[in-house]
Amino acid sequence: TATLLNGKQIAQEIRAEIAEQVRRRVQAGKSQPKLCAILVGDDPASQVYVRNKERACEKAGIAGTVDRLPATTTGTELLARIEQLNHDPTVHGILVQLPLPKSESSADPLDERRVLDAVSPLKDVDAFSPVNVGLLMQGRPRFLPCTPHGVVQLLHRCDRPVAGKHVVVIGRSDIVGKPIASMLSQRTNMANQGDAEGGRDVANATVTIAHSRTENLADVVRQADCVIAAVGIPKLVTADMIRPGATVVDVGINRVDDKLVGDVDFEGVKEVAGAITPVPGGVGPLTIAMLLHNTVKAAELADG
Ligand code: NAD
Repeated sequence: TATLLNGKQIAQEIRAEIAEQVRRRVQAGKSQPKLCAILVGDDPASQVYVRNKERACEKAGIAGTVDRLPATTTGTELLARIEQLNHDPTVHGILVQLPLPKSESSADPLDERRVLDAVSPLKDVDAFSPVNVGLLMQGRPRFLPCTPHGVVQLLHRCDRPVAGKHVVVIGRSDIVGKPIASMLSQRTNMANQGDAEGGRDVANATVTIAHSRTENLADVVRQADCVIAAVGIPKLVTADMIRPGATVVDVGINRVDDKLVGDVDFEGVKEVAGAITPVPGGVGPLTIAMLLHNTVKAAELADG
C-alpha cells in the first residue's frame, strides 16, 4: 500500500521554521510581521477559517488581526477599508476571506474581483492580484499562492520529485489548478520556504491540465506519474484511474454526511498508488503554513 504523505507533520515543521525566522527578525530589531484578515458577514465556515489563521499567526509570533465587517457592508465601504490597510505601514499582509456574502445593496455591491484587485500587490499574501499572478507565470514570483505552494512543499519534503515526469492536474481554478500547473512546469523550483536547494527538483514536470470538459478523464489520469486532484467532487478519482506506484495529491475538501472527504477514493486508491495524501491532514494544513510564510515575506518586502 501507498506511503502516507503526512501534510500535518510537514506543516508543523514549516510553522516551526517560520516561528524561528520571526523570532530572529524581531531580535534583530525589525518589525513584527502583521497580517490583517477582512471577514465580511457571518458565514460559519469562513469564521472557522479566519479563526484558524489568527491562531496560527499567534503561534508563529506573527500579529494577526481580524476586521469583522457586517454583511450589509457596501462595495465602496470595503474598498475604502482595503485602501486604509494598504497605506497602514504597521500592516504587512492583507487577506479578504472568500466568499464575500451576497450583496444586500444592489446599487453598491461587493464585487469579488474588484475587491481582490484593490489589495496592494506588496501586501497580497493570497497572491490573487493580477500583478502577482503575472509574476508567477513569468517565473519570478513575489508571493506564491498558498495551496499550490503547500503542494509543492509537500512533494519537495516527502522526496517525490516530478522533474521530467508526467503530472496530471485535475481542475483549472485560479486558486489551485492553474497555478499548480504553472509552478510544476517551470524551470526552477518554486518551493522557497526552507532549504529548496538540497532537495529534489519539484519543477520541470510535463504537465497536463484536465477539467470538466476533458474527454476520457480516466485514460488521461492513467498516464500520470503524479495526480493532483482539485475538483470538489467526492471520490471522483478511483483506483482504476491510477498507474501503479503513482503519487496522488488530493486537494479536495468536501463535506459528506458531516465528514470531510477529498476528491480521491482514498481506500481504493491507496492500494495502487505509491504515495497518497489523506483528507483531512494532507494539503489542508499546508495552506495556512504557506500563508504565514507569505506574511513574513511581506514584512521583509516592507523592510526595503
Ligand atoms: P473550483 O470549483 O473553482 O474548480 C473546480 C475545477 O474542477 C474546475 O476547474 C473544473 O473544470 C474541474 N472539474 C469540475 N468537474 C469536473 C469533472 N467531472 N472532471 C474533471 N474536472 C472537473 O474549485 P477549487 O477552488 O479549485 O477547489 C477544488 C477543491 O479543492 C474543492 O474541494 C475545495 O474545497 C478544495 N480546496 C482545498 C484547499 C486546501 O487548502 N486544501 C484550498 C482550496 C480549495
